[in-house]
Amino acid sequence: MRMRGGWESPDKVPYGNCLPDWGQYHPPVFVDKAIITVRAGAGGAGAVSFRREKYEPKGGPDGGNGGDGGNVIVQAEEGMSTLYDFRHQRLWAAQNGENGGRKQCSGLAGKDLIIQLPPGTLIFNTVTQQLVHDLKPGDRVVIAKGGKGGWGNEHFKTSTNQTPRSADPGTPGEEFNLRLELKLIADVGIVGKPNAGKSTLLAALTSATPKIANYPFTTLSPQLGVAELDGTRRLVLADIPGLIEGASQGAGLGHDFLRHIERTRILVHLLDLVPEDGSDPAENYRVIRQELAGHSEALAEKREIIVFNKLDLIPDEKERAAAIKKLCRELKLRADKDVLTISGAARMGLKELLERLWKELHPVATDDGWAKS
Ligand code: GDP
Ligand code: MG
Repeated sequence: MRMRGGWESPDKVPYGNCLPDWGQYHPPVFVDKAIITVRAGAGGAGAVSFRREKYEPKGGPDGGNGGDGGNVIVQAEEGMSTLYDFRHQRLWAAQNGENGGRKQCSGLAGKDLIIQLPPGTLIFNTVTQQLVHDLKPGDRVVIAKGGKGGWGNEHFKTSTNQTPRSADPGTPGEEFNLRLELKLIADVGIVGKPNAGKSTLLAALTSATPKIANYPFTTLSPQLGVAELDGTRRLVLADIPGLIEGASQGAGLGHDFLRHIERTRILVHLLDLVPEDGSDPAENYRVIRQELAGHSEALAEKREIIVFNKLDLIPDEKERAAAIKKLCRELKLRADKDVLTISGAARMGLKELLERLWKELHPVATDDGWAKS
């Protein structure tokens, strides 16, 4: 969605004097972490056995070989954006190879285990602290090799030893403790004036499902949250606590987030429908748009979903519709297409908002086609 309304972008960057030197400045990075154990399958043992046929009561050795153990493989999975799954499962083990059998039967190889991880995940060995792999999109690598199956006793038969009574036990699979680290990039940035309800909305969205309520980000700023639409669809949202709030304090918190929102893919522009301070919502919208434009072109051009908030403050249906209509008119928006109406505090319209965001971010998956353009 493009910027609407007819104001001019300011010719001066708002807090140009107190901005850090972006060339050297590194914004805070939010890191999601998990520690897991990967265990490849052990090779199956070779068998010790001898042919016992009717006319050959003391036949030669016929113990089969053990099967190889399965590998543990990590694979980059587009669309995954957190390490959430790894909080619930610590051990990731591939199948062991089967033992060899009689009559030269080889054991079956163990199945590989494929672990899907978000691209961008750094995989460290917790013992050596070494970076084992930096997972790039499309990567698929063996992270722990399965053990080799052992030879059966038939293999050890020689001219001097016709009846070998031992077989190879097979080797264990590799096992490692790994630390996974992912720099979280929010898909969605929530912007709006102070008191528009950004923090409330973020809290409501990211605790909307019980699973997410206690998402234990250890090193995360509270301004970041993960909303779960269902088992597989998750969105990372960032509350951008204001360009404006930061401005009033010089180089405030807002600056730290600038780079972060520049990397978000879409903005939710939250508008208080009935601001407590009596300010005009349409004017508030313009102020934020100016702030965004003042910061960077990239921000000003970022897709934006306009969301009217605090619907619950106008309980009367007619009054509510009138207020929405009025603000839409002022902002030259179509009420049915261009805006969503919610109440973060009363949790109204939140599911629709998440679905809309998802559609915007995953246009191919839409069924009605409106987000495909
Ligand atoms: P922020 O400054 O944009 O992060 O706004 P906050 O989330 O801190 O909210 C500012 C004030 O508005 C708080 O007193 C909230 O309780 C209140 N508030 C936020 N969302 C809603 C809402 O949907 N309805 C009502 N009635 N109040 C809200
Ligand atoms: Mg806030």
